[in-house]
Amino acid sequence: MNNRICLNDLVERCAQSPHLPAYESGGWGLSYGQLLTRARVLAAALGQLWPGEGPILLYGHKQPALPVGMLACLLAGRAYVPCDEGWPAARVETVFRQAGAAALLFADEAPAPWPEELPTAPLWPMCEPGIIEPLAAPRPCSPEQTAYILFSSGSTGRPKGIPVPRRALANFARWITARPALTLAPGETVVGQAGFSFDLSLTDLTLAFCGQGRLVSLSREELADPALLFRQLSASGAAVLVCTPTFLELCLCDKNFSPALMPKLRAVFCCGEVLPRPAAEKFLSRFPGAALLNAYGPTEAACAVCAVNAADALATFADGPLPVGLVEQAAVEIAALGPKGELLAEGEPGELALRGESVFSGYLPGSGDARFSGGWYRTGDSGFVKGGHVWCTGRLDDQLKYCGWRIEPGEVEAALHALPGVERAAVLPQRSPDGRVRRLCAFLQAAQSARLPEEEVRRLLAQRLPAYMLPGRLFWLDELPVTENGKCDRAQLAREFLL
Ligand code: AMP
Repeated sequence: MNNRICLNDLVERCAQSPHLPAYESGGWGLSYGQLLTRARVLAAALGQLWPGEGPILLYGHKQPALPVGMLACLLAGRAYVPCDEGWPAARVETVFRQAGAAALLFADEAPAPWPEELPTAPLWPMCEPGIIEPLAAPRPCSPEQTAYILFSSGSTGRPKGIPVPRRALANFARWITARPALTLAPGETVVGQAGFSFDLSLTDLTLAFCGQGRLVSLSREELADPALLFRQLSASGAAVLVCTPTFLELCLCDKNFSPALMPKLRAVFCCGEVLPRPAAEKFLSRFPGAALLNAYGPTEAACAVCAVNAADALATFADGPLPVGLVEQAAVEIAALGPKGELLAEGEPGELALRGESVFSGYLPGSGDARFSGGWYRTGDSGFVKGGHVWCTGRLDDQLKYCGWRIEPGEVEAALHALPGVERAAVLPQRSPDGRVRRLCAFLQAAQSARLPEEEVRRLLAQRLPAYMLPGRLFWLDELPVTENGKCDRAQLAREFLL
């Protein structure tokens, strides 16, 4: 697929409806005309200020300058790297260096402290029309060129850089906009929960911008305050909601989350973690006229690769976990592979593997090797394919999901290990009865010196890790238990402390 056609198309459509609202968050908004004009100005400025290919870090939360920055990078043929302003500055700096970025553009304030030698600039003034001649047309790019780089938690102790090629983004856009329940008419609204450093946000961005719809991206304040949140959900008049299952369940806890609050809601797109059967049932009985899609996919394959209509799945499969997608309608080929890479038969449990346009080509150098076999990307998810449906049953490694966030305990362990006086560290999830991660628990063994007070551990850790990766409980032990092979005996820790 020629991805430039896709981008040119998008630009053309923006230009045709300049007055339609494109994006809103936290009381600020942009029309399509403003989005495109500003993105063109910024695209031209990028080439003048930082010529070359270096990726551009976009630092902020949901300010309108961020989607402008993303579109500008796509137009300029530069990869963008969304970094949430909630991340500690040290992590942003690591990401900058790992990505080999040319500059960091910030929405409100630059991260602090920040090394002087790494270029930063404020996003908004750089998009201001009238100073620089806007870029006339998107720069020609190869489909293999990186569209964006997302950084997820890394098992090696550093954030993992996942470059996603333009062909993958274009394939995702083609797939997501072909889901009938999700397609927006010009002017219709999609509400998005996720921040831009989480690729779920690509769903709401793509649905809005490809359909000339309006994206209302929930601000941090709205997400933190149920009264504000519900006011915004109601005021948005949204036709589509894009969120994690955790978010949907939180909304469902309040009986006001109903068609009376969101009368136009016709579809919810959930992705990123298990959608529990009871949550799906509750949503569908509360919103009988709306569709609920359970979608699946890793960041390595551009957000989501398959989805299933939860009402159909509930009707077809009387009990057990819900499937996560339909093979026929997937954006890529999906199969279950055995340990040697062999294709497994119907229903045989193995490792879910993906092949096709949406799949990336490998991690950034220093982020570890992606596991490919016979052209298939091995996701590390356990699952099976049966009767045209895909099931994702868990992980084959230690990777965790906490409220939709992807966490490698190894990265938290490395951060703990780097603290003064920590000899050894282990991080385990404490799960609720339905198997979901309730919190991370850290087990620490002190070196010779005194144990750091718990508050100090938390303070130092928060300088390295985003809030969602911070352990909820800390245990100082005289010694971490070890197995016969000399490894940390996680099973014993779990038995003793987490049951
Ligand atoms: P991320 O890269 O953050 O999008 O996380 C991708 C991982 O989330 C997948 O590899 C799965 O482990 C998990 N995941 C995504 N969608 C689902 C789903 N619908 N059901 C169960 N697990 C999911």
